[in-house]
Amino acid sequence: MARSLTNSKPAVVRRERNCSVARTLDIVSDAWAFLIIREAFFGTQTFEGFRSALGVPRATLAGRLRKLTQLEIFRQVAPAGSQRKEYRLTRMGFDLYPSFVALMQFGDRRLADGKPPPLTLVHMRCGCTSHPIVACSSCGKEVHARDVKFRDGPGAGRRAAKPGRNTRRASDTKRFLLGRPSSVSRVLEVIGDKWSFMVVREAFFGNRRYDKILIELSIAPNILTDRLSRLVEAGVFRKRLYRTSPERYEYLLTDMGRDLYGPFIAMLRWGDRWLAGGKPPLLLRHMTCGKDFHASVICNSCRKPIVAADMQYKLTYDPKAFGALGPRSVS
Ligand SMILES: [Zn+2]
Ligand SMILES: [Zn+2]
Repeated sequence: MARSLTNSKPAVVRRERNCSVARTLDIVSDAWAFLIIREAFFGTQTFEGFRSALGVPRATLAGRLRKLTQLEIFRQVAPAGSQRKEYRLTRMGFDLYPSFVALMQFGDRRLADGKPPPLTLVHMRCGCTSHPIVACSSCGKEVHARDVKFRDGPGAGRRAAKPGRNTRRASDTKRFLLGRPSSVSRVLEVIGDKWSFMVVREAFFGNRRYDKILIELSIAPNILTDRLSRLVEAGVFRKRLYRTSPERYEYLLTDMGRDLYGPFIAMLRWGDRWLAGGKPPLLLRHMTCGKDFHASVICNSCRKPIVAADMQYKLTYDPKAFGALGPRSVS
């Protein structure tokens, strides 16, 4: 991608690529916000319900619920005869569900340490135990990174980055593990820090080298070094020496890293749909069918799109041990 060389100098105004994944991550890479949305998928609707499931401090919870309501992920309702307000997911909020499911499947496949997944999904439309897949909206086949070409969409371009974000210290990703056992949490512990995921995004754009990623993300060098070494340690990247004296490395996605493509384009889809003002920054073409597409998270059994209302859960743990709600009953 052609870029002005002046961008590699210490920037006066950092500019970042318009990106629907980044917009989505701005929301879900906040550990508390993510955990609150997850509990809402399990049916939690009240302040006290969230508090007891997550052990989150009251002021923090109030702040996050306010923010998520402003973002229109939640709406507040006052049930008849009750003084207390409740929080319901909006359509936009419910629509995050396929992204969560895609992250969960990745966690089940890659981060379970040989243990059974904490949660089994039952798809009520077909009655099957479901292992959803990320598929092409045009042909319905499962999408893999190597089968996709991308190009700029109507919303492509760069905008001034919000100040300060490139120097933010690593958030404590252990926080994602609070509350119930969850494969999505395990994924976010590894890549939920926004910059980690953005580094993975650059790999999907074909940017493998430190200097190139540094320029693309306008990120502080120490942050990039830290994230790359964490991602190597987590098994998402492997490092390859491509030049000696001075030593230079490039970072290649492992099989596990490439497997993040499904969750990546599921989040891209959500950002395009809800945060891009009808102008997606990026268009994807599925080379398998030759058509433009968006990610569709579908049931592997009946091939129908996954929506939150159609899913029930079987848990392999006792939810009461985590102060959390149990599954909606599986009949
Ligand atoms: Zn296709
Ligand atoms: Zn199904």
